[in-house]
Amino acid sequence: MPGTNPRELGLLADCESCFGLCCVALPFSASADFAADKDAGQPCHNLRDDFRCSIHAQLRQRGYPGCTVFDCFGAGQKVSQVTYEGRSWRQEPGTAGQMYAVFAIMRQLHELLWYLAEALTLEAAAPVHAGLRRALDETELLTRRGAGELERLDVAAHRAGVNTLLLRASELVRAGQRGKDRRGADLIGVRLRGAGLRAADLRGAYLIGADLRGADLRQADLIGADLRGADLAGADLTGAFFLTQAQLNAAKGDAATRLPAALTRPAHWLAGDGRRGDPGAQEGPRRAGKGRRPRRRR
Ligand code: SF4
Repeated sequence: MPGTNPRELGLLADCESCFGLCCVALPFSASADFAADKDAGQPCHNLRDDFRCSIHAQLRQRGYPGCTVFDCFGAGQKVSQVTYEGRSWRQEPGTAGQMYAVFAIMRQLHELLWYLAEALTLEAAAPVHAGLRRALDETELLTRRGAGELERLDVAAHRAGVNTLLLRASELVRAGQRGKDRRGADLIGVRLRGAGLRAADLRGAYLIGADLRGADLRQADLIGADLRGADLAGADLTGAFFLTQAQLNAAKGDAATRLPAALTRPAHWLAGDGRRGDPGAQEGPRRAGKGRRPRRRR
């Protein structure tokens, strides 16, 4: 039975074991996040023959900040090394299309594993821990299926079942706190400075460019919230859950931002570069990402 440690579950991206799948499979459009257009299935012109990024150390400076905030949750290396047993799309071009499709499905499965593992650490969600445990084990087994089976998998149906459990876990954690319901809300660019959002339901909320300076986001459910360019300077995210490092990396913040224990302060918050000085950070929604967000490659 797998544990709940993200590293042990293989949920931490290992770009060196991946065939650069996010740099090939996913499309992006020229924008504040990417300096050029790229179609799905077309290798990025910065991707080297050894699947490493030729501008890794200067992604932000070279106009690719979007590449620093994507997380495949370890799907890239799972597809490369487990599903395709180390045979790359360069070695076997005939598998490329299927490999990219499988990568998209695997990423969803790994993302679910991430949330399930986190939910199992939430003490208040204990009444649903047994169900969460079963769902985690089932999902992990799905990731071990062959490429053909994965390609045919009804991942949307599986997501729906898992989501029911995650919703219940969220309700249990936020119970009795009268958190605001902002699920899926359009809060793009909204001034929420100092807002009382403790235990709020912000699932899937659009918070792009929102001013959340000094906001109280303790125990808020932030699953899928779009925090690109949102200003979290001085905000309190202690105990906020279903928040990923990629979401945090896409936001702005400072040394006073209080974070959930499992997440780390993005280096660009302190360096003063990144989104705080990024001319595109306040420009509103630009859904141009590699899927949603690429992660840094080494
Ligand atoms: S990390 Fe970004 S810029 Fe570098 S190869 Fe991948 S897609 Fe291209």
